[in-house]
Amino acid sequence: MGYPESMRQSIKTLEETREFRLNQKIPLLNLDEKNQLLREFHPDYRPGVHREILVGVNKGDNAVGELVDLLEASSHVDPESIDVNDIFLTVDALVIGAGGAGLTAALFCSDQGANVAIATKLRLGDSNTIMAEGGINAAISPGDSPTIHYLDTMGGGNFTNIPELVRALAIDSPFCIKWLEDLGVPFDRDPDSDLPLPLLVGGHSRPRVCSVGDFTGMSIIQILRAEVEKRDIRVLDFSPAVDLILDENGKCAGAVLMDLLTETYQVVQAKTVIIATGGIGRLHIQGFPTTNHYGATADGLVIAYRAGARLGYMDSIQFHPTGTAYPDQLLGLLVTEVCRSRGAQLVDVSGEQYINELETRDVVASANVRQVIGRKKGITTPSGMQGVWLDTPLIDIIHGEGTVRRSYSHIYLRFKRYGINFSKEPVLIYPAEHYQNGGIITDDMGRTNIPNLYAAGEAAGGVHGRNRLGGNSLSDLFVFGRRAGMDAGNRCRDIHIGKLTLKHLKQYHQELKGVGIENNLTSPVLLPDYRFEKAFPKFQQ
Ligand SMILES: Cc1cc2nc3c(=O)[nH]c(=O)nc-3n(C[C@H](O)[C@H](O)[C@H](O)COP(=O)(O)OP(=O)(O)OC[C@H]3O[C@@H](n4cnc5c(N)ncnc54)[C@H](O)[C@@H]3O)c2cc1C
Repeated sequence: MGYPESMRQSIKTLEETREFRLNQKIPLLNLDEKNQLLREFHPDYRPGVHREILVGVNKGDNAVGELVDLLEASSHVDPESIDVNDIFLTVDALVIGAGGAGLTAALFCSDQGANVAIATKLRLGDSNTIMAEGGINAAISPGDSPTIHYLDTMGGGNFTNIPELVRALAIDSPFCIKWLEDLGVPFDRDPDSDLPLPLLVGGHSRPRVCSVGDFTGMSIIQILRAEVEKRDIRVLDFSPAVDLILDENGKCAGAVLMDLLTETYQVVQAKTVIIATGGIGRLHIQGFPTTNHYGATADGLVIAYRAGARLGYMDSIQFHPTGTAYPDQLLGLLVTEVCRSRGAQLVDVSGEQYINELETRDVVASANVRQVIGRKKGITTPSGMQGVWLDTPLIDIIHGEGTVRRSYSHIYLRFKRYGINFSKEPVLIYPAEHYQNGGIITDDMGRTNIPNLYAAGEAAGGVHGRNRLGGNSLSDLFVFGRRAGMDAGNRCRDIHIGKLTLKHLKQYHQELKGVGIENNLTSPVLLPDYRFEKAFPKFQQ
């Protein structure tokens, strides 16, 4: 298939300016310039995209409208018609979600001698984590330190991050790299020192991101999955949690799962529950395509909120600057940030580079939107999508023939299937919804405001403030998956569960009614609906 003639013309223009651009250095923006760009072009700043939450702990706060819709829907579970004393399984710790955070939490929890079960919506390991391309951050290179990692992360989040969480992230990340290496994760290595070779990506002041080619998440999940399978950890797959169970004292005491095969409910009683359900990309915030896997539908946020857990930063979404815009079959799929850090430039229809590629993601995404919408300098595809070029052939020109195929073999093959040679031709990209910056608020051990309920990974919020730096999500999920797992595993010895109840659901439904919200919607979503006309949403730009 390859590029149609209409797009080829623009590739010619790009090629004509390549030699000039090779030596061009666009300076980083100053704080005022950044803020102005964000205000004018970042999708978070568009009018009408946030709504007030009218019920629950965060009443009065604003969040993205698509999430508020779910918070205003009713539970799948009718609290009157389900018997919570009909218990299917009793464990010390129930981990909800089987991506990086869930598997890590389960392993560290079981290390403490706890009897652990994992309930997951799809199969063990189906997640955003398995799709991670770029890598995981840790201050391990000469000249780096946890203090510098802390400062970069705070700066990247515009100093809105929760400091004690950032502290934990920066201090524990090197340990997590060591743990993963000891389990067998084959990080790309420095040939001289034989240590993992960290690379520099946007917003970091030191090389810090450790990768396994462009399939870091796949390598990690394969190993963690095998580790879980070796242990006595019960796995309930195709069994999403649809609500939490509290005990009569308001402490978390388990969850109601839905068996997707039989569509029946199962009650799991647990002394501690760890929510590790990941992100919200499949809600397609503002109609953006997404980089996320099919299960990323905000379920953990919804069930935690109904039980009384506090959320934070839910008006802040990360749009990754380089989601694929052509061909349509790859819409939204990620082209890793590491390509930019190795020299791939962003180029518009006139062949001009317009932003320093190592700015933070919020800034680069906004610059891409400005180029397409504000300055009308995008490239249009046959189906009407627009985007800008990522000039990936520069990587081989700078680092030597074969670098792209060696370092980005996964992405290379993905484009090859559609007749595009990622090492010789640029690829068309546009921001895609990538990450929820916020989530369930926790302390530095992953504990929420509900006793015995934890959250870790992308479902938790606060460590990244209003903008996450590349590579910091994987660090986050290992650091806090580990901390939550250890704490839950340790504490469950002393926990005594009272009578199980779903009283909180009744109260929540009454509160909705009290403010006049009555609709036929149920949440969590569980799986996105792409049937019929929904299969061809008109993605917004
Ligand atoms: C394509 C892509 C590339 C990325 N690359 C990087 C990178 O290089 N570096 C980086 O730092 N970050 C990266 N990120 C972000 C990072 O991968 C994610 O933020 C992170 O993996 C989230 O981990 P998690 O364990 O919290 O959630 P996930 O890995 O998404 O796992 C969530 C799990 O919960 C399950 N689940 C959902 N709802 C329910 C429910 N109701 N009941 C039970 N289970 C449920 C899901 O099925 C899944 O198993 C990338 C993200 C994507 C999408």
